[in-house]
Amino acid sequence: MNDNLIKKNYLKKTKLLNKYNKFYYDKNNPAVNDQEYDQLKKDVLEIEKKYPRLVSKKSPSLKVGFKPSKIFNKIKHKVPMLSLSNAFDEEDLKNFEKKILNFLSLKKNTEIEYSTEPKIDGISASLTYKKGILATGLSRGDGIEGEDITENLKTIGDIPKKILSKDFPNEIDIRGEVFITKKDFKKMDEKFANARNAASGSLRQKNPSETKKIPLKFIAYTFGYIDSHKIKAQSDFLSILKNWGFKTSQFNKTIKGIKNLTSHHKKFEGKRFNLDYDVDGIVYKVNKFDLQKRLGFVANAPRWAIAHKFSANSAISKILNIDIQVGRTGALTPVAKIEPVNIGGVVVSNATLHNEDEINRKDIRIEDIAKVERAGDVIPHVVSVDKSKRGSNSKKYIFPERCPSCGSKTAKDFNETTNKFDAVRRCLNEDFKCEKIAMEGLKHFVSKEALNIDGFGKKIVEKFWELKLIKFPQDIFNLDFVKIKELDGWGDLSVSNLKYAIEKSKKISLDKFIYSLGIRHIGQENAKLLAQHLKNFENFYKLLKTDNIENLSNIDGIGETQIKSIRVFFSNKINLDILEKLNKNMKVFDSISTKKGGILKNKAFMFTGKLKEMSRAEAKSLVEQKSGKIISNVNRKLNYLVIGEKPTNKKIKKAKELNIKVLTQDEWMKMLNKTS
Ligand code: NAD
Repeated sequence: MNDNLIKKNYLKKTKLLNKYNKFYYDKNNPAVNDQEYDQLKKDVLEIEKKYPRLVSKKSPSLKVGFKPSKIFNKIKHKVPMLSLSNAFDEEDLKNFEKKILNFLSLKKNTEIEYSTEPKIDGISASLTYKKGILATGLSRGDGIEGEDITENLKTIGDIPKKILSKDFPNEIDIRGEVFITKKDFKKMDEKFANARNAASGSLRQKNPSETKKIPLKFIAYTFGYIDSHKIKAQSDFLSILKNWGFKTSQFNKTIKGIKNLTSHHKKFEGKRFNLDYDVDGIVYKVNKFDLQKRLGFVANAPRWAIAHKFSANSAISKILNIDIQVGRTGALTPVAKIEPVNIGGVVVSNATLHNEDEINRKDIRIEDIAKVERAGDVIPHVVSVDKSKRGSNSKKYIFPERCPSCGSKTAKDFNETTNKFDAVRRCLNEDFKCEKIAMEGLKHFVSKEALNIDGFGKKIVEKFWELKLIKFPQDIFNLDFVKIKELDGWGDLSVSNLKYAIEKSKKISLDKFIYSLGIRHIGQENAKLLAQHLKNFENFYKLLKTDNIENLSNIDGIGETQIKSIRVFFSNKINLDILEKLNKNMKVFDSISTKKGGILKNKAFMFTGKLKEMSRAEAKSLVEQKSGKIISNVNRKLNYLVIGEKPTNKKIKKAKELNIKVLTQDEWMKMLNKTS
């Protein structure tokens, strides 16, 4: 990479990091999860290490938190409030200790004593006491200047307002963590992603009476400025804090040796789900103050402390129950309801157990202590359970043989190719009598890839179902809008938007129509193959009658499994009735065999704005009929941008910049040899 590119890449990453910091520290609403944030920060630090010339005063490696918000007065901390370096494994800890020993010129085998303290996931605050009276309370801010949140902090019961102890210094900053318990967090609305954001958001309110409504807690762990003292070690200071009337963590402990630190960490990680507050790691601090003083600080963190973080993609928790969810195809999916646990900034309370076989293979039981993983965007899942922690009353989990939604029989398919039964158990009800299957089917029917009814989300399907407004797909075209308008959260505008979206969805291509029916084993690709082969709705509808069903095996990609599934679908009278009714309500376009050498060959089109008397689906099909293709971005591959009513001006501007031809709908229709 050349110099310019390296700098550009670095600046891009630091800009993004800054944006994430603003969302996290200032708005209490993280834009990404901690794993993603930490990775970005690691990338930035690696670039800085490789190219130190890029490091400026503004570099994220030198920064703490985020600048104080304008809604509060700024006050300078007498002693800066820093961040902590992180360790993720034993190797990181060994390096940490090695650096300390080198710095202090101590022998390799010297064992340092550490004060170990749970790293409560809240926000730090600094309380300045003058002559025993709480004078000011600041947030960390950017570490140098904090926000004056004295009145807000005074609303917290755990914070003493007056301290009478004789040994209390004349002036001291007591520092600690403001947090919210998991129980109280559960009671709050869903405004915050996790308890840390909730604590920060509640504490940093402009109006302290708003803060007072939230039961915030405070645990003290250090001091900033102190006028004089004779305290020798952090562990002594923690005991004194308690004598002065501050709450301290009951889990504070002094430990020597890296092996002991890691085993303490492991034990604590295994039981943190039991605590009533979020802890995201353990802080190790060199215990002796004289050593701390000699060690001093690096850019934005003390050299004498480190935060040994818990994994950002897995955690230990307890299985409280096993729920069986029924999907659109009748598949029964077991989901573990777990004691909520914060994994990398996301509170996880459900973890999939995949299927019955998985439960049996891993012998997963209710009440088990389990390892739950949440990596990237994958749904959290139970990795394993700790059988050694099982109580004597533990019972094997028996997977239900009846559907939990409708009580019908369930079974596992026999796979003739593998000669084995499927791992997935399914509800065998095909008659719209299984509420869950029918409701999931409706969600699929209106989904983006199927009818694509704007604004008709999963929650709305559930609501309308509950109110008995819908049961079969065709009911969507006969909704009682008078009743809907009366519902909470609905009004003229939302009803008219929904009506418009439903109206628009009535025109659909045959492949999307087939896909929307949710026939098992007929996904988007197979639906396209079927549509191309069958050409029109009539042929599809008559599939069973004309015995053409066997001919489907001539289609490359359609096999026995799909044919069997289509046969099952058509052999159900209810489905035939649905097809008939949908056909009356909808306009399913014939599938046009895409000619390979049509007049639009090698030409890419894009549409913006509403087209006259034509849906996007129809427009797309007209282009494809003549061998053209549709793309969804204005880029150099695009040949024509077709504009309808109220187009997106940005797209037109970009198209013009790239010399892409912009056509009106009429011009485009002429091109197709048609007039509108
Ligand atoms: P930190 O988590 O690295 O550590 C410093 C903080 O630990 C202190 O300010 C204090 O509040 C806290 N702490 C708790 N117990 C303590 C104890 N006993 N002794 C000393 N300190 C204790 O703080 P940071 O630099 O503010 O934040 C970094 C973390 O925040 C990372 O884990 C990162 O993933 C997360 N973050 C996430 C996003 C996002 O967008 N998801 C953005 C910014 C930061």
